[in-house]
Amino acid sequence: MKRALFYFLGVFSGIASLLGQSHPGYWQQEVDYSMEVDMDVKTYQYTGTQKLVYTNNSPDVLDRVFYHLYFNAFQPGSEMDARLQSIKDPDGRMMEDGKSRIASLTESEMGYLHATSLTQDGASVKFNEEGTILVVDLATPIQPGGKTSLDMEFKGQVPLQIRRSGRNSKEGVALSMSQWYPKLSEYDVEGWHANPYIAREFHGVWGNFDLKLTIDKNYTVGGSGYLQNPQEVGHGYEAPGTEVKTKGKTLTWHFVAPNVHDFMWAADPEYIHDVVDMEDGPTLHFLYKNDPEIQENWKKLQPKTEETMRFFSRNIGKYPYDQYTVVQGGDGGMEYAMSTLITGNRQFPSLVGVMVHEMAHSWFQHVLATNESKYEWMDEGFTTFISSLCMNEVMDQNQDNPFGRSYQSYYALVESGLELPQTTHADRYATNFAYGVAAYSKGSIFLSQLGYIIGQEKLMESIKKYFEDFKFKHPVPNDIKRTAEKVSGIQLDWYLTDWTQTTNTIDYAIKSVESSGNSTKVVLERIGLMPMPLDILIVGKDGSNETYYVPLQMMRGEKENPYPQFERTVAKDWAWAHPTYELVLDRPLDSIEAIAIDPSQLMADVDKQNNVFQVAE
Ligand SMILES: [Zn+2]
Repeated sequence: MKRALFYFLGVFSGIASLLGQSHPGYWQQEVDYSMEVDMDVKTYQYTGTQKLVYTNNSPDVLDRVFYHLYFNAFQPGSEMDARLQSIKDPDGRMMEDGKSRIASLTESEMGYLHATSLTQDGASVKFNEEGTILVVDLATPIQPGGKTSLDMEFKGQVPLQIRRSGRNSKEGVALSMSQWYPKLSEYDVEGWHANPYIAREFHGVWGNFDLKLTIDKNYTVGGSGYLQNPQEVGHGYEAPGTEVKTKGKTLTWHFVAPNVHDFMWAADPEYIHDVVDMEDGPTLHFLYKNDPEIQENWKKLQPKTEETMRFFSRNIGKYPYDQYTVVQGGDGGMEYAMSTLITGNRQFPSLVGVMVHEMAHSWFQHVLATNESKYEWMDEGFTTFISSLCMNEVMDQNQDNPFGRSYQSYYALVESGLELPQTTHADRYATNFAYGVAAYSKGSIFLSQLGYIIGQEKLMESIKKYFEDFKFKHPVPNDIKRTAEKVSGIQLDWYLTDWTQTTNTIDYAIKSVESSGNSTKVVLERIGLMPMPLDILIVGKDGSNETYYVPLQMMRGEKENPYPQFERTVAKDWAWAHPTYELVLDRPLDSIEAIAIDPSQLMADVDKQNNVFQVAE
């Protein structure tokens, strides 16, 4: 296809966010955790106490609660193990010689997390472990608006690192501690979300965390939360130029994380710890192995992290914490509150790429906390979208269409016949391939294509308003749709429904072009089920360009001209059910060189062959 026919218009500039609006009827639960934990770095076993003050803001009386005990997934015979052994395309990181790595864990290598005692306001309660979920029958039901205190003692063992968290990662990081504590399940308007840990699902309760962690004094610790006692622990947290003297074999690190829904920490005796105080933003911490192979990249990563922080704050909304920490650990990249765990032994562009992606999750997951199990496309997809824009700028990629890869992946999924609707629960996709493309690529296209539908400026305005209105909440799909509707004045229910709840595809075609005296008759055809408005580019023999816009009737509105440098004619509405549409161009056919549907290529048309009509000589 002729490249000259396609234009990507990068109008992704900032527009002031609209005022936030309240959401009458919305409620969310609250947790306040105080934990004291002792970690034995030789056995990788830990014990802890947890005082959890739970506030029931729901209109319902709760007589049970549920906790996640994620580390129990890393045991032979767990649901995670069973799924790994039965899915067609298991995650390569979790396999060795074609076999599940979980299946071969020994007693001392596997993970576990058990409650050893639990009381509610001093009274003992009945609790029962079911795999990765602890089911608790409360002694006293919690009334709407009521608060209760749940006091637990627990013991755990950190599994050999299989997926995300664990000990002794491939890069030699001692402790990557995510999903490590007994974590209360979220209860929201949809009910309980006590999902077993099978592959991927995190949905947490908003609250405040206070952690006192006692660990071998040679280990440097970092992750979520502000350190409260830097002058007692040092390790690069102390005030510059001061000296910290410690006694004994262990140190107790005191962290506080306000208004988060998760808490990660990592520790290693060989971490280098760099601190960057951003003039106009948070303090950045970098923890990475003292390994000469990676040091240069990790130094170069630091100014890129600053640029990225600025990019997201400018384009989505101000980063709301005073600290962000990039930690080498885990098995790829994973986002956590105020921090990320990424693998560190990478080529520089890949190191920046993973940092950018995970930091974007600070907005699309750790502030806009969608339920990842059910709406994975809203956090992975939106993150992919904004990361693609950010990489284009931060890494000077200057791509015409920074979302090109997402579209290619989506087309490949459609072609494969393996696609499932985005409403599928993250664990229930038949293949990891279909999950990955639906969540990351099709989720990213949800936004880039929304830009095609309502206009790029309205899209970026919608993202900012979405952040303002839903930060520190649990937004659901309807919230992004309603936000875009309010910003654009265009009705979008059809878009949310078809794109996220079905596997309907978009295929529009130029069916025929005929001369009709001094005008030209173009017959357009809708082959796919999914509706779309159309931008049509007409390239003249004299090199001129003009566009036609065919509005989709059910949108009840039109976007602004996306190509203000060209003259645009707004044609009559196309009502979806009609398979064809006649567009009459007020010019003779012999003045036209070519006609093309959607020169931006932001509309995910699965068959591009029929989008262009070249007029014969
Ligand atoms: Zn992600």
